[in-house]
Amino acid sequence: MPLVIPHWQPQALLESLEFDWSRAAGIELAVLRLELIDPLISGNKWFKLAPYLSAAAKAGFNGLISLGGPHSNHLHALAGAGKRFDFPVVGLLRGEPQDTPTVRDLQTMGMQLHWLGYGGYRARHQADFWLPWQQRYPHLFAVAEGGLGLLAAHSCASLRQQVQAQLDTLGWPDYDAWWLAAGTGTTAAGLVIAEAGEHPVYAALAVPAGHGTDRQIAALLAEAGMANQGYHLVDACRGGFARVDPELLAFMSAAEQSSGVQFEPVYTAKALLALRQHVEAGYFAPATRVLFVHTGGLQGRRALLSPLS
Ligand SMILES: *Cc1c(COP(=O)(O)O)cnc(C)c1O
Repeated sequence: MPLVIPHWQPQALLESLEFDWSRAAGIELAVLRLELIDPLISGNKWFKLAPYLSAAAKAGFNGLISLGGPHSNHLHALAGAGKRFDFPVVGLLRGEPQDTPTVRDLQTMGMQLHWLGYGGYRARHQADFWLPWQQRYPHLFAVAEGGLGLLAAHSCASLRQQVQAQLDTLGWPDYDAWWLAAGTGTTAAGLVIAEAGEHPVYAALAVPAGHGTDRQIAALLAEAGMANQGYHLVDACRGGFARVDPELLAFMSAAEQSSGVQFEPVYTAKALLALRQHVEAGYFAPATRVLFVHTGGLQGRRALLSPLS
């Protein structure tokens, strides 16, 4: 059955956000709550997937195939989209078969899973990686790991309009900066493209420097024909991707209690803690207005915060 393009354009709420540290520094914060757009398809991932769904539908494919780890927010959103819009999805997983809350959800939502091992997963950047999968699933369109790509970046540019349309609800005449967690950097690159230099974008890196996010953002901007500027990279990874430390968890729990917003330790809490450190180091002048994008990922909390893991 050929894929039908779902015309679903979720709107995220923009709300003001305040912490004792932001108040003390006289910084104004607002949060774009992508984590609330949908119970199945949460966070920034829908914005990154939607253009690939359209491309796949136009090219006559039936569904999508992609890859990720056993806690992947990307695969979770893809499986959610497959369930919601009724198209087949296949997930190629890193490592040996594991039973995680995410994997259980993927199965429940009807995603067909294949475990690649670690070596098999490392081969994903090789030119012939997709060949056997395309032979096995000729009707499925392949989406890169994490939804990386220019189509996805352009789609994330729509977040700027969502903010512009709601600024008056905050009583803000304008804003001074974006602040968001970055993995592949696609979402951040989309905002840089949308801003075209008007407002800076701070990408708080959830992956260590040297893992390519800087190059990926630069490559996306080059592909979009944009100057390689208008953004700042901030190291937010605290020693490693998905590495969790007691200070981070204490900060996250305090932030949740005072704001009523839930975060998760891999991306959003690290980005918020890096923002606090930036504010406390005096990098933002008083009265600076910062837009924090809540990129979602709450499904991943279960494994990371469970006492058994
Ligand atoms: C995937 C993800 C990101 C990173 O998005 P990129 O576009 O790859 O930089 C940030 N936060 C959360 C919660 C995510 O799931």
